[in-house]
Amino acid sequence: MYTPHGAHHSHYQTPYVTPYILNPASQVHDQFENNFMGKEIEYFSEAGFDMTKIHIRRNAPVAQLYEDAVRNEGAIISSTGALINFSGKKTGRSPKDKRIVFEETSKDDIWWGPVNIKMDEHTFEINRERAIDYLNTRDLVYVFDGYAGWDPKYRIKVRVICARAYHALFMNNMLIRPTEEELKDFGEPDFIIYNAGQFPANRFTAGMTSTTSVEINFKRMEMVILGTEYAGEMKKGVFSVMHYLMPVKFGQLSLHSSANYGPERDDVTLFFGLSGTGKTTLSADPKRQLIGDDEHVWSDEGVFNIEGGCYAKCINLSPEKEPEIHAAIRFGSILENVVYNPINRIPDYDDVAITENTRCAYPIEYIPNAHIPCSVPRQPTNIIMLTCDAFGVLPPVSKLTPEQASYHFLAGYTSKTPGTEDGVLEPIPTFSTCYSAPFIVLQPSRYADMLAERMRGAGAHCWLINTGWVGGKYGSGSRCPLKYTRAIVDAIHNGSLAALPENEYDTFDAFGLSIPTKVENVPSEVLDPRKAWPDKDAFNKEVKKLAGMFNRAFAVFEKQVDEKVRAAGPRV
Ligand code: ATP
Ligand code: MN
Repeated sequence: MYTPHGAHHSHYQTPYVTPYILNPASQVHDQFENNFMGKEIEYFSEAGFDMTKIHIRRNAPVAQLYEDAVRNEGAIISSTGALINFSGKKTGRSPKDKRIVFEETSKDDIWWGPVNIKMDEHTFEINRERAIDYLNTRDLVYVFDGYAGWDPKYRIKVRVICARAYHALFMNNMLIRPTEEELKDFGEPDFIIYNAGQFPANRFTAGMTSTTSVEINFKRMEMVILGTEYAGEMKKGVFSVMHYLMPVKFGQLSLHSSANYGPERDDVTLFFGLSGTGKTTLSADPKRQLIGDDEHVWSDEGVFNIEGGCYAKCINLSPEKEPEIHAAIRFGSILENVVYNPINRIPDYDDVAITENTRCAYPIEYIPNAHIPCSVPRQPTNIIMLTCDAFGVLPPVSKLTPEQASYHFLAGYTSKTPGTEDGVLEPIPTFSTCYSAPFIVLQPSRYADMLAERMRGAGAHCWLINTGWVGGKYGSGSRCPLKYTRAIVDAIHNGSLAALPENEYDTFDAFGLSIPTKVENVPSEVLDPRKAWPDKDAFNKEVKKLAGMFNRAFAVFEKQVDEKVRAAGPRV
């Protein structure tokens, strides 16, 4: 019987092994193999890689990862040359299954609670061994060695060990790719990810509540992934480590933000915001150079990107609205869980049959005006806090005082639109502190205090931008057209908003926000929600509702902040 799957197994000895041996990098590889085994043996006597059985591909060429993914993982090559992969059952992160190991070196720093759930060291050992044992059953194991952090002073060396070519290529795109020289002298990594995502956690292991487990051990500087193949877990694992190391060990501020640079005015902008608020979309700007779309460090010297690539949403992606991102989807890029036309391999970005969270991971140099190296020795000039307010209450743009900036950073507000199926018609508010609660490692106030201090030092302007609903809430209004938001961002960058005199700002009393009365290329009635809503009573009702939600959400921070920050919230 002919089975296409069986076919490759029968001749795997030749096509797999040969190209690798012929690979000019094989010398590097051999050296690595020895180091790697050496490390395993002397460091962890409990588990190691069985080099007599498995074959390791280290920093394999992109084309080879394509070939493996197509041959073994059901991947498809898209019409523009991107690799379309599928992550299986999980198409998003699994925050409830995330654990942090409770150990003496980090226990006093970690913000324990529902975001950082404790795991004991022994359970980590069990899961780690389970992951390594699983990897030992694979014929092929992939290793990717790369860096996190573009500033050599602060960067860390990351090693990813996984069994899917898709995962190796994903981290090839998302980490900073070492040069051949750097790879040769890579040495021991600072952080290792063992990704055995295809294999489940054992539900009878202490503390496991499902077959998925994503865990980080700051003492061993290791991450273990079981039971989820969603590649974004690895990316956020690296961020978690930087979100711990940068403030604790280096005294630098790590941020869940995008960043770009304007050569004309020599200025850096940071964009904060939760998922879907526009960090990736708005930081890709033809007038500016992209530093990065998701994870940065604001250091004493300036701003640098943690990653070597971007991870853009693909839902409803169009070349007209997001030309840079659309053009980045080509050979080397990974499309995740995107539906495609089987005849011509053209992706259908409007199709949510697999998930709404369709993504593309591409190396940052695929954005034509990326600033490489992704590090700028400048303190930020503008801080933009993005929110997607589906209640339609917050103005498309407002100017924040330093106290309001601290307030909104700690509150971390955005909202989700109601799902179409479950009959929920109300937007769903989300308050996610520091605009990044799922990845917060330390007490939120540690990041917030550092941000306030750095903003003060740099004299940065702060703006709150609502990329969500205008002229009504979800259902009656509409999402702020992207071209208006882009015009607002332009007005921030060309200095015209900051130059607008006080009397050209209106005060939105309930939230204490200053709304500019004019912004070039934006109709002025859009700028003030009090004017944009046709139904004033309905508007006032939503204002009260949202203000109440802010007050309730902020209550947990009231004791930690000073009076001025407490007073910077809505008053209704
Ligand atoms: P994540 O943290 O998950 O990566 P993100 O903040 O990077 O999220 P984006 O990928 O930029 O979010 O998603 C914003 C989405 O909203 C895009 O699909 C974009 O096309 C859409 N959008 C619609 N209107 C606007 C607007 N006015 N401003 C920004 N984005 C908008
Ligand atoms: Mn993004």
